[in-house]
Amino acid sequence: MPVIRPAGLPSRAPYGFQLGDAMTPRLIPTRWCFSQGTWHAVPLIAVLACAEDNPPADLLLAGGSALDGAGGEATAADVAVTGDRIVFVGDAAAVGVTAVDTFDVTGLVVTPGFIDMHSHAELGTDHGRDARAFLHQGITSVALGVDGGGSAEVAARLSGWEEDGIGVNAFVFVGHNWVRRRVMAMEGRAPAHEELDAMSGLVRQGMEQGAYGLSSGLFYLPGNYAETEEVIELNRVAAEYPGAIYDTHDRDLGATYPPFGYLKSIAEGIRIGEEAGTKVIFSHFNAQGAHNYGRAHEGAALIEAARARGVEVAGAHHSYTATQSNLRSYTVPGWAVEGGDTAMVRRFDHPDTVEIVDRQTREMLVIRGGADNLLFADQRPELNGRTLQDVADEWAMEAPAAARRILRDGNAAVMNLGLYDGENLRYLAGRDWMMTCTDGRDPGPTRPVTHPRAFGSFTKKIRDLVLDEGLLTLQYTVRSMTGLAADFLGWSERGYLREGHLADITVLDLETLDDMATYENPRQYSRGTVHVLVNGVFAIRDGEATMALAGRSLVRGGDAFDGG
Ligand SMILES: [Zn+2]
Repeated sequence: MPVIRPAGLPSRAPYGFQLGDAMTPRLIPTRWCFSQGTWHAVPLIAVLACAEDNPPADLLLAGGSALDGAGGEATAADVAVTGDRIVFVGDAAAVGVTAVDTFDVTGLVVTPGFIDMHSHAELGTDHGRDARAFLHQGITSVALGVDGGGSAEVAARLSGWEEDGIGVNAFVFVGHNWVRRRVMAMEGRAPAHEELDAMSGLVRQGMEQGAYGLSSGLFYLPGNYAETEEVIELNRVAAEYPGAIYDTHDRDLGATYPPFGYLKSIAEGIRIGEEAGTKVIFSHFNAQGAHNYGRAHEGAALIEAARARGVEVAGAHHSYTATQSNLRSYTVPGWAVEGGDTAMVRRFDHPDTVEIVDRQTREMLVIRGGADNLLFADQRPELNGRTLQDVADEWAMEAPAAARRILRDGNAAVMNLGLYDGENLRYLAGRDWMMTCTDGRDPGPTRPVTHPRAFGSFTKKIRDLVLDEGLLTLQYTVRSMTGLAADFLGWSERGYLREGHLADITVLDLETLDDMATYENPRQYSRGTVHVLVNGVFAIRDGEATMALAGRSLVRGGDAFDGG
């Protein structure tokens, strides 16, 4: 593969080319030159001649302001790409770097492609494969299998993406809830020895096939039935593989009923990683519910204390104040769901239990800020875009009864408006361990209302916190979306704008950058991501999606899945 100069060598060759004799040496500046199949330091004066030997790069992003992902100030730099690699970052004209195609990016910011650390992108579906909602935010890689939901059939998932093509790079976790459900269905008890062995076997299978670690959704069922020790045991299996990560939707996150305790929940997540030997990431991290407004610093202090004693613990977040989950988790207490949906409906039908369910649902709705704050984002058109209160009013019943009626026909996707506090969010955005995520799901054509986070999380963070409020610098924020995540993931070839790295690149126009998606009208692509390259291929070019499916399935460590 033609390259401009070898990755890892300094941009200047050594001053050392000697023209004079031993008595009167003349050391003159040199440049690297690739000719006759190898690299030489040649006198600067010979670079032009050398450039004739040098094959042009495939493309050059010329005249932009580059942020390399390390968090430093922007520098003026051209970026050249050949094949799937970045082959040059610097002053192209000065060293004679040319390209087949040159794109003028004067006035624009060139960054590494963004890494979405917690995603529900539906890459395995026809409507989600191209990942346009994500690409338009500048995202080039997404983490899936999160919230405890990831299948242990990792190789099948990765190879399926490779065969069908995907718009962004993707990597996966094995999910604790998936594993538990597979072995124990919806049993609300501790596993027997053989059951824990079977669960461990599934985690090991996923790790062998390239998973990044174990994800949990301890807020959700059946994960919520697990004691801490069970999750530690399964993480120990993941920890047999270097770099394993514990990705958690922690137990209280979502505002559990009865409250588990915001700080207790964070302490549990840290303990799991610390005892098992995995890194920990708290996903879509925040202090949730009105009772936790203003308390983000307390949770952050626990994380920072753990980091200080050497635990690799971090977080990821987006900057919306609404969450999206499901009606059952938000309105039905865990005990009432034990044994699964049939058992739940039996409890709805029993006069003794339904009374307790309804009373507790009312208490849960208080934590959520009322039935007015629950906005459906569901496939069912009669629910989509309406609040639980609207639906209850139409049916002339109390909200708990309306929730039960809906749940008889299956669970429903719902947003909880205002569950996060904006001040908490701003405090957390300033932590140097905080990465960025969408937590978003491309909704497909049948779901007109969904959470706008799938379309605007990354652009909104820059728009609101950098450009409008001036709370964060652009270089700090870009780092939270790139290098910080790549380091945590153990990637050595993505996440930075560096020669030799894979060419995942985002080009931003700060003048027009905007998250367009709103709660009322969420299906709007972000603006201002002028170009997005995935593995050296334009996925967005001049603001338009190319529909290229240039993403790759990534195994633990960052390598592309090779079928094994
Ligand atoms: Zn989650």
